[in-house]
Amino acid sequence: MRAPVVLALVLVLVLGVDRADAAPMDVTFPISIAVATKDGHPAQDDPWIAQQIEDANALYGPVGVRFRWTMRREISDTHAEMHSRADRDALAPLVEKNVIDVFVVSALEDVDEPGRFRKGVAWTSKPDGKRFLILSAVAPRTVLAHELGHFFGNGHTDVPDNLMSYVRTAGGTVFLDDTQIERIHLFSSRFLASGRLPDVGPPRLFP
Ligand SMILES: [Zn+2]
Repeated sequence: MRAPVVLALVLVLVLGVDRADAAPMDVTFPISIAVATKDGHPAQDDPWIAQQIEDANALYGPVGVRFRWTMRREISDTHAEMHSRADRDALAPLVEKNVIDVFVVSALEDVDEPGRFRKGVAWTSKPDGKRFLILSAVAPRTVLAHELGHFFGNGHTDVPDNLMSYVRTAGGTVFLDDTQIERIHLFSSRFLASGRLPDVGPPRLFP
């Protein structure tokens, strides 16, 4: 009688640990938005920014990662147009602590292909190695979600309608695949563990 009891106990413990490892992620990360002004006007308006964040939440929310817009500020005209690496690096002193920094600018030129304009970029500044996102005011929907995909460690893919692809089909639904979701969970765990980002999720409801 003793062996089966021990076995059952071991099974319960093992399954319990397994269950804890596979616990679904439920985290909300803070996003700070800095909007460049041009001729006294912000490069984009708040509803446009809110839509970008809402689209990101629609894609990441189902896998337990959400984003909350926690800060908003305007930055000077000198940052309205990004043409060079130096222009992007000049944003580094403006990053906030313990948030995902997103800069919204009026123009974002490719630094490798002059004349080509980008809709967004995930940038690591030199020499200080600060990581932040830059969105062009002309970015269509889901560009913030795409740049967040880079922020959470994902590269590009050619699969049509994948969030990390440039290819969209008419009427297609944008999606993340299992490997990308795993990477997002891995990076989320690292950000939390290192203190790089806090969870600003809503407090749990207690009875
Ligand atoms: Zn990309």
